[in-house]
Amino acid sequence: MAEGYRDFSMFLAERFPCKMQKLAVNAGFSCPNRDGSKGRGGCTYCNNQTFNPAYCAPALGIRQQLEEGKRFFGRKYPDMRYLAYFQAYTNTHGDVGRLMAMYREALEVEKVDGLIIGTRPDCMPDELLERLSELNREKSVIVEYGAETSHDVTLEAVNRCHTWQDTVDAVRRTAAAGIPVGLHLIVGLPGEDDEMVLATVDRVSSLPVDTVKLHQLQLVRGTRMARDVERGLYTVPQFTVDEYISLCCRIISRLNPAIAIERFVSQSPDELLVSPRWGLKNYEFTHRLNARIRQSGIQQGSCYIPDR
Ligand code: SF4
Repeated sequence: MAEGYRDFSMFLAERFPCKMQKLAVNAGFSCPNRDGSKGRGGCTYCNNQTFNPAYCAPALGIRQQLEEGKRFFGRKYPDMRYLAYFQAYTNTHGDVGRLMAMYREALEVEKVDGLIIGTRPDCMPDELLERLSELNREKSVIVEYGAETSHDVTLEAVNRCHTWQDTVDAVRRTAAAGIPVGLHLIVGLPGEDDEMVLATVDRVSSLPVDTVKLHQLQLVRGTRMARDVERGLYTVPQFTVDEYISLCCRIISRLNPAIAIERFVSQSPDELLVSPRWGLKNYEFTHRLNARIRQSGIQQGSCYIPDR
């Protein structure tokens, strides 16, 4: 296990014989937590502008976005193969026939060998899951759910408009359909201390999850959370880099060693980010984390107790 934890490249290497790159696709979906089908206003921290690369505009269409992404990465790595990453908003929110046509369009693009579909845990109907399960027999399909935390009190406070039980249910149904499951988690949500974060890690560890993606809470301009904090309605944890690295080490040692960790940090565009302003690129953070892991001899799962 490199650097003390199972990373995403290991997970991919077990499934694909060559180097794989994710290509983000914005298929122009909405979000049930914005369009009124679940809620309005969205999650209090959400500003979707922060996770779209420049080539990724819905007006370009799925095929063209993927071709442009391939051109970008293919210059340096001509043998690279790709996974289409339906990332922005809720990529299972729509008519099943239309959704499947979009996924298939992505898979028809040359060198695209699979899909990663990002969505909410309350937005995976059985009918779609069945169709994805069939598709997964032809090409690789991974579903990534935004769980964020296992604490309902926090989910409510940030207006997620779903519960932890929705996540548990979606993960179990997806795994039972034979589809690998990823979970997205946010570290440092308002009202959560380190112990609450670790309790979430324990609960995630007991589920049939294949990958997790963590990042520090980022306070982003234009969000309700940024306005609330500015008005003094509540505070959010302010980790220094070293404090956050220490917490990541505890997370690694508590996490089920079968689960791959895709990342620990995220980086919003500088002009949108209020805090934390660490001034580090993601890879610089990972170098510092890896140095600490080596120094301290951290091993994933060393404090994991099955069925805690
Ligand atoms: S974080 Fe996801 S679920 Fe929440 S409002 Fe944004 S797109 Fe919707």
